[in-house]
Amino acid sequence: MTRNSSRFTEAACKLDALTRAGVDTPPACEGDDAFIADKGTLLPPELSRMRLVCSRCPLFDLCGDYARTAKPEAGYWAGIAYGKPERAAAKTA
Ligand code: SF4
Repeated sequence: MTRNSSRFTEAACKLDALTRAGVDTPPACEGDDAFIADKGTLLPPELSRMRLVCSRCPLFDLCGDYARTAKPEAGYWAGIAYGKPERAAAKTA
């Protein structure tokens, strides 16, 4: 098993755990489109709001564990925006 396939399998297991936990315990970000927006479209006040939402989420640990393993190409996971910043973000940063 290669290092990448091992990480993929580990990430899949962690995503499964997060998904199963979410059945009985909805995530605090449920229905909030900002959490799936492109990183470059999120301004600092919005990121602060999202960080606060995550800090109160019962799935924070599972979500962060998954994201640290999977290194998603996009989205906001457990207080961290993943993905490459767009040019618009670079101008506002
Ligand atoms: S920790 Fe944040 S991104 Fe993860 S499920 Fe909870 S609210 Fe959503």
